[in-house]
Amino acid sequence: MHGFKSFSDSTQIDFMPGITGIVGPNGSGKSNIIEAIHWVMGEQSAKGLRGDKMADVIFGGTKTRAPLNRAEVGIVFDNRDHYLKSDFDEIEIKRILYRNGDSKYLLNGKQVRLRDIQELFMDSGLGHESFSIISQGRVEYIFSAKPEDRRSIIEDVAGVYKYKQNKTQAGKKLTNVQDNLDRVTDILYELE
Ligand code: ATP
Repeated sequence: MHGFKSFSDSTQIDFMPGITGIVGPNGSGKSNIIEAIHWVMGEQSAKGLRGDKMADVIFGGTKTRAPLNRAEVGIVFDNRDHYLKSDFDEIEIKRILYRNGDSKYLLNGKQVRLRDIQELFMDSGLGHESFSIISQGRVEYIFSAKPEDRRSIIEDVAGVYKYKQNKTQAGKKLTNVQDNLDRVTDILYELE
């Protein structure tokens, strides 16, 4: 992380096998670390990162340090087991945001679209909306959710989400085709 929220200096955290605990006083940036992971994996909601606008993730300065102009987070996955559907043994994703709004995603150093990042994590149980990262308040939400909402959570975890998305997209295409067909029918009617 560099320039992300409270991390004005370049900071690297190694998540070793087993459990990694992050401890620190209130306001020292523990949640910011989790948010950095969400962000690099494609989080699009500034509110989900406790901000009003996306630029709020860029280090905004303190009494002693000037604000920075860009936020950068990278995450490296050991993919030797090819759990993520990619030929690479190691996958590095990087997201960079500039204060003027320019932003980019890099996959092993090559610029890619957000969609490529999302596809990489689809059905992996990772990804920014997955349940591999459960933030404060989310546990309570799951317990108190309505049965339908809880069902959608289970569908997400079970990997049904991808098919639902495909179905929605196919539905949209069908509607477009129907609209075109209606227009053709109208034209034919006028010509007859
Ligand atoms: P708690 O234990 O209370 O949950 P925490 O260790 O999780 O706290 P965070 O909520 O991660 O702490 O960090 C909050 C700190 O991050 C605040 O001091 C806030 O000023 C700082 N911060 C957030 N966004 C920025 C930013 N864009 N620039 C500089 N500092 C920021």
